Amino acid sequence: MTMTHKNNHSDAIQDLIIGYQSFYHKYFQSPDTSIYKDLVTEGQAPKTAIIACSDARVDPALILNCSPGDLFVIRNVANLVPPCENDAKHHGTSAALEFAICFLEVEHVIVLGHTHCGGIQSLLNDAAEVGQKSFISHWMEIAKDARAKAMNEYSTSHDREKHCGEYSLMASYHNLHSFPWVKARVDAGTLSVHAWHFDLETGLISRFNAEKKAFENIVGASIA
Ligand SMILES: [Zn+2]
Repeated sequence: MTMTHKNNHSDAIQDLIIGYQSFYHKYFQSPDTSIYKDLVTEGQAPKTAIIACSDARVDPALILNCSPGDLFVIRNVANLVPPCENDAKHHGTSAALEFAICFLEVEHVIVLGHTHCGGIQSLLNDAAEVGQKSFISHWMEIAKDARAKAMNEYSTSHDREKHCGEYSLMASYHNLHSFPWVKARVDAGTLSVHAWHFDLETGLISRFNAEKKAFENIVGASIA
């Protein structure tokens, strides 16, 4: 489906309905696939959970060419993983992670960051808004150390945004290990944690190499 950039609300919904009809035909009416029937009979059993940004441009299933049932997807502002906090508050991301890891027993968790992230941009610009805390600024406090590091080490807004995004990704990677059920499985070798970064301009995904402490492209000339 190609979404058009129209201002009319009903056109946007109509595009979605047309898209849904195409989906329904492909997955529920075509004799060529029983994928949903199988997923209902057998239940979902994704091997990978992914934490991505809510940004409309970074749909993990689309970028990674996945089928229904392949990915357990958690999306929030700036793809942040909070630290493990055992209070009585409402932790949506932590609850979703707990379900994926403890009940679905996924083998991989990917934190997927991206360039031009509005959450990261708001974090970098937030110093001017002292006093009035929004939901976004409270949420982005998870990455406040990444902000401080990027502001301290770089002088241009371009460099600060790029590196704040990467440092924030590292913070989420680190925070994932603060959940005891993550750490236990990583230590046992039954769960792998990955940090990937998607460049909206080039389409390249780089992944964090924990040994080299550097990002490396996973799509290169060798992959057609
Ligand atoms: Zn984002």
